This record gives sequence, structure tokens and C-alpha cells, in this order.
Amino acid sequence: MSDVPKKLYIKTYGCQMNVYDSERMAEALGGQGYEQVDSPEGADMIVLNTCHIREKAAEKVYSELGRYKGLKAANPDLKIGVAGCVAQAEGAEIMRRQPMVDLVVGPQSYHRLPEMEAKARSGEKALDTDFPEELKFDHLPKGRKASRGPTAFLTVQEGCDKFCAFCVVPYTRGAEVSRPVSRVLREAEGLVEQGVREITLLGQNVNAYHGQEGGEDWGLARLIRRLAEIDGLDRIRFTTSHPNDMEDDLIAAHGDCEKLMPYLHLPVQSGSDRILKRMNRGHTAQEYLRLIERIRAARPDILMSGDFIVGFPEETEEDFQATMDLVEAVNYGQCFSFKYSARPGTPAAERPLVEQAAADDRLQRLQTLLTTQQRAAQDAMVGREVGVLFEKAGRLPGQMVGKSDHLHAVHVQCDLPVGTLARVRITESGPNSLAGELL
Ligand code: SF4
Repeated sequence: MSDVPKKLYIKTYGCQMNVYDSERMAEALGGQGYEQVDSPEGADMIVLNTCHIREKAAEKVYSELGRYKGLKAANPDLKIGVAGCVAQAEGAEIMRRQPMVDLVVGPQSYHRLPEMEAKARSGEKALDTDFPEELKFDHLPKGRKASRGPTAFLTVQEGCDKFCAFCVVPYTRGAEVSRPVSRVLREAEGLVEQGVREITLLGQNVNAYHGQEGGEDWGLARLIRRLAEIDGLDRIRFTTSHPNDMEDDLIAAHGDCEKLMPYLHLPVQSGSDRILKRMNRGHTAQEYLRLIERIRAARPDILMSGDFIVGFPEETEEDFQATMDLVEAVNYGQCFSFKYSARPGTPAAERPLVEQAAADDRLQRLQTLLTTQQRAAQDAMVGREVGVLFEKAGRLPGQMVGKSDHLHAVHVQCDLPVGTLARVRITESGPNSLAGELL
């Protein structure tokens, strides 16, 4: 292997799990002499780590690949790979439609990237979209990247068994798998040794975590409580959760585990029982509302976040009104909302779409309400004292930016180093962030 590092450019789409995966892919290819760079120009290898959640995801990947044609023509040694959920869904079709692609790797197989890269270097095509028996995490480099900020993602669970009618995850990421407790702890301790003070535990359905330790089954709450014992780790978050897996001990942890931050992303998707049933969500709107009540009883200042799909097949104005009523009842601090679009291969994709003008209008009404709630939650922070973990310098001289306990971005005039967790009084609420002063 030459001493000059080869350049690796990874473009990441989609969720935080892909951000985590891209980091681990870069670590895996680090052993092959690759160093990550910020631009595709001059790279020896380009990997698109794709997401299948958005509309026309595969088409967007093909058009992105088209942009690299010039780079490949200028440098025939450039290797191009497609990873992630589109790779899983499309498989060999990607190489058929874009012959310049050298390797295609699904989300469960990227620990095999070094062998696949070697195969591609020898001029062969490399394709791996298996769901291997061995857990990829066991085969990835044990140490995490040396230079990093004070926050990190840590995947503890992958896959989903819920089969919501609109979602591709159970098909692209496979069945639910949890990493063993000891591996998670080792990785977390390693991150803290490198200066990480906040860890976000990731999983497609993270609160379905059931890891093994000494023959015992650990749920997410027990894992969080154990992680909270790590000295130097100050904050723990987790995402994304399903309401049906919000078990009692996890709710209780929000009340009694100080390091577990008061922010919870708990998607419901619709407020109509009829649509929830058609979505195969497995719960009613009332059950969700009761759950929120119990969570707020444990942690009254928790900031709730969620996801909504508007214009799901067969959604009527009455169904949509039930969604608006649920949003009013919950009062979200932050939310993501989308107009329904079909994902090929999912049950809902077979159903007729609602009239698009009606769906657009509903989305606009919902987003207006959610934005009002979000702004009110932010404004309500003014005058409060919060913890802020500084992540980087702000745009103004002498300014630092960090996240509050409730995940609001906060700007503070100070010269504290990155990684400092400070007490701050919030003085102002802007359109997308807060301003505060050190206490
Ligand atoms: S619970 Fe989430 S990941 Fe699983 S199928 Fe439903 S939307 Fe997809």
C-alpha cells in the first residue's frame, strides 16, 4: 500500500443512521489507506450513502451518479460505490443502469467494504446486499475516529418489524437487531475518551432495543441508566421511537435519569384512528395522547417532537381535522411533516392517491400550526436557565453556538472552548435559534 493516502469522498443522504454509517464506512476504508475529503474532485473513491425515504430516491441517485461521469472519464482509476437503502432496494440494477458504478453495498454489509474495494480495484464489480448472519459491528474497526466534536451518534439497534404501510425500512434494513450491551458500552467509553460529552443512541426503532448481557435481556432504559454511569458522559438522547415500544421503565427514566435529555421524538403520523389503522401503526390517537400524558407526568418540561404524513391514501378532510386536533392536544416543540408519496414495494403504494391540491392545502395548514407551536416553545425558553453544550464558533466574533438540553440551538457571546457544558440564561428567541448569556 502506498504511503500517500487515497482520497475518499462520501456523500450522505437521509437520516442520522446514515451519518453514523458513513463515519463507520470511512473508518473501515481507513484500513485500506483512505482519508476522507470534502469534495468529489480528485477523489480516488466516491461513495453515495443513499436514503430511500424521500420521493423518487432511486432516480435522484442515478442523476447524482450522472454528475460523476466527467470525473470518471478524467480518472479511470476512480472507483464509485453506492451504499445505503437505495443500494439495498435496487441491487444489481444500479450497475446495469450506470455501468461506471464499481460497487454496491447494502446497509447491513458495509463491514465488507475493504474486500469489496480490493475487488473493485482489481477491475471486478462488487455487489453485496445480503443480510449477513454476523453483525456488521463485530467486523468494523473497534476504535472510532480520533478527531471529533463533543457530540456523537451511536447505533444500538437496526431494522424494524413494524411494517407501517408506507415505509421501506423493514425491507431495506431488515428485521430488528440489537447490538450486545458490552459492545455499546465499549464504543461509548471510547467516544468519551475522545472528548465526546453527548451521545445520541440511534435505531430505526431504537426503543425496541433488546440487547443481551450475561444471558440477560436489557431494554433501552437499562442501557441508558448504565451509560449514565460513564464519567465524562454528560448527556444521552435517543431517536427514533415507536409509541408501542415506550415501556414503563423508559418513561420513568425520563423522570429520574438526569443525563437523559428532556427531548423526545415520538412519531404518530396521523391523528385519525381510521388512517392509523390503514397505516398499520398498531395504536390509536387516544393511546398516543395517553402515552404523552404519562411521559409528561414523568418529565413535565419534556419537549415533544414528531412526524406527520399528510394526504395518506383515503385521508378525508375529517381525518385531517383529527390530525390537527391531535397536534393541538400535544403541543409539539418541534415536528417534521410531509405530504405522502408512495414508496415502491410498500402496501400503501398500491392505493389511490388523494387529490394533490387537497393534500398540499392540508400540509400547509398543518405546517402553519406546527410552526406556531414550535415558535411558542422556543419563546417560552426566554428567561429560563438551561445547559448548553458548545459545539462550534458562531458566525459573529467571540460567539459560540451549542445545543440546549431541549435541543434548541443557542448563541452565546463567550470564549469557552468547544466541548464546554455551561449554564446559560436565555435572553432572546429568534426564528430558528435562541440567544443567551453565561451564568
Ligand atoms: S416503525 Fe418506523 S421504521 Fe418501522 S415501519 Fe414504521 S415508520 Fe418504518
